[in-house]
Amino acid sequence: MDFSFSEEQRLVAETMRAFARDVLLPKYAYWDRTGELPREQFLKMGQIGLLGLRVPEEHGGQEVDAITAGIAIEAAASGDFNCCYAILIACFAGEMLGRYAPEQVSAEWLPGMAAGEKIICTCLTEPQGGSDAVGIRARAVRDGGDYVISGEKASITLVMAGDAGIVFAKTDPGAGARGVTAFLVPFDLPGVSRSAYSDLGSRGIARGSLFLDEVRIPARYRIGEEGGAFSRVMHTFDYTRALIGLMCLGAAQASLAETVEYLKNRQSFGKPLSKYQGVTFPLADWAAKMEMARWLCFRTLWLRDQGLPHTSEAAMCKMQCPDIAAGAIHECLLLHGHYGYTTDYPQEQRLRDVIGQQIADGTTQIQKMIVAREIFGRDFV
Ligand SMILES: Cc1cc2nc3c(=O)[nH]c(=O)nc-3n(C[C@H](O)[C@H](O)[C@H](O)COP(=O)(O)OP(=O)(O)OC[C@H]3O[C@@H](n4cnc5c(N)ncnc54)[C@H](O)[C@@H]3O)c2cc1C
Repeated sequence: MDFSFSEEQRLVAETMRAFARDVLLPKYAYWDRTGELPREQFLKMGQIGLLGLRVPEEHGGQEVDAITAGIAIEAAASGDFNCCYAILIACFAGEMLGRYAPEQVSAEWLPGMAAGEKIICTCLTEPQGGSDAVGIRARAVRDGGDYVISGEKASITLVMAGDAGIVFAKTDPGAGARGVTAFLVPFDLPGVSRSAYSDLGSRGIARGSLFLDEVRIPARYRIGEEGGAFSRVMHTFDYTRALIGLMCLGAAQASLAETVEYLKNRQSFGKPLSKYQGVTFPLADWAAKMEMARWLCFRTLWLRDQGLPHTSEAAMCKMQCPDIAAGAIHECLLLHGHYGYTTDYPQEQRLRDVIGQQIADGTTQIQKMIVAREIFGRDFV
């Protein structure tokens, strides 16, 4: 067993940490306060390869292994958690289009996305419920050389800024999971409209609803074969769930480091706060939980790189890491005393932002269902 990263992976971590500290962190609060889209950051992220991590090299990406992508997103999240949504959806689109879309469609969309110029959203959730992903109602009907898509998608990250979305729709409503098909839908087509949400956190990432009213697209925009999308999206989630884990932990690590410095410098009863176990022990507890969770994420990514099963491990990452990160950041906020409750320190924003990932990409309950299914067997739960 060898837990060390390669020389190349260490270099990626170092470069990304410097980028997070010098470029992302200084504007982290700005996008929250203004609600503006961090477009300039996306372009810089594109330049250093953060948006092409899973894009094939021939389409302008890096196509790095899953562990290296995890290293990059963990480091980036220590600077700006919300910019990492762009990395996440780019990894999702990179996998889905790079592996399953016709070459012409990949060539048209992936280089722009890898450069940070184009945003491709993930459009699965619907207003009636996101947990039951097989129960989606959006319809895609074949009409000659085209498909006509109608339906509503809810809670789509970056939808207001998106150029296209990977839209999941039923081509055979009676076939359950085998009736779900994926399409790349450009958002400038007639029949596409959007509306924005007002969110607790992650305010710059322009979450909202997508409306598709008889949107006609050529059949070449279908991703993979008819009815084949569900297992593919779940396999891709097995990957992004480990990335989400590291993204949440990266944010929590930043809060922990800031809090340690704060406690070394602030005094009570004539001594630095760091001299009191009442403040250091809670942080020691969170540091231990974060360390355990971090290695679960990297092991999950390692399993993926080896081509080994990792559905249960990925669900465990998503089940544990956002909760651990939210708990750790909350503790850091409290240990800053009344300053922690102000918007002058990043703790309150990180907490609001991380909470989104306790819900997104399958809630904690849904991850528990996946793990229970794996350990009991499908027939017993
Ligand atoms: C910040 C953020 C970003 C997001 N980005 C995207 C995106 O880019 N694309 C996209 O498609 N979606 C996105 N989502 C949507 C997300 O995937 C869904 O919110 C999530 O899957 C849950 O669906 P829901 O909100 O409809 O909750 P529901 O399915 O209505 O569930 C409500 C509650 O009931 C619980 N629950 C449901 N069924 C069960 C059960 N059988 N047993 C026990 N508990 C259950 C859930 O855990 C939850 O707590 C995002 C959400 C957030 C918050």
